[in-house]
Amino acid sequence: MKSEKPIVHVTQVGGCQRKKYHEIIDKGKELSPHFYGVKGTMCHKVLEKSIEQIEVPKEDVYIDLEYPALISGRGDRTEEISRDVYEACMPEVEKLIETSNEWLETQEYDLPTFISEDTMNVETEECIIRGTPDLYSNNTLIDFKSGKAMLRSDYIRQAAAYKWMLKKEKDVDIKECHLIFLGGDKPVDKLIPEDKLSEGYTNFQNDLRTHLDTIEKVKILGVEGKYEFKCSNDFACVFCKYRHLCSGV
Ligand code: SF4
Repeated sequence: MKSEKPIVHVTQVGGCQRKKYHEIIDKGKELSPHFYGVKGTMCHKVLEKSIEQIEVPKEDVYIDLEYPALISGRGDRTEEISRDVYEACMPEVEKLIETSNEWLETQEYDLPTFISEDTMNVETEECIIRGTPDLYSNNTLIDFKSGKAMLRSDYIRQAAAYKWMLKKEKDVDIKECHLIFLGGDKPVDKLIPEDKLSEGYTNFQNDLRTHLDTIEKVKILGVEGKYEFKCSNDFACVFCKYRHLCSGV
């Protein structure tokens, strides 16, 4: 598909507008990835491997944990991540492997009927929306989270977007969206209530509008536009690699 329209990943929608400003204006300034970002990348790689186990016998899935296996081939300057940072992330990564194995052994889904890591593109008037749900069948969507069980609005927005994309792209009618949390002592499966999903879909469309407007505005205003995009000053700042460039207003 050849198109001049911007590609927007589902995971880019929402979040801090100031961060989007920094992502465009400060791109290439050689900022090191944040520790939490590194941990997220490593956990995601492990989850990808766990999902592979659904399709091939467990003994055939080998997860290489040696530095830098879990960060190689990723963007975000991962080549600059030191062995020390990598090692510091390992306890959580190893725990995630344990809980994801436990989930695989105890879950009751008919996993062979599920499709994994299927990237979809939905073209709208203004952009191409790209998203990769972890797993879906002809009526159920499953998304894994490496944190503790919490029905956060951004998780719900993401699941609602995948549900919408599956209908648009594949004519699949998702009836149930489940979030599987693997960051606690035990895996936790949470069904997203229908009303929350509708709310999540509305949030997705509104936040997509804001995302596109912000990108456009940053392009027009350039560096001078920084203070047009207010600091969110919330818990997400702790995990943000731009926090030293961000002025707190
Ligand atoms: S530090 Fe906080 S306000 Fe600044 S860009 Fe990052 S998330 Fe946004």
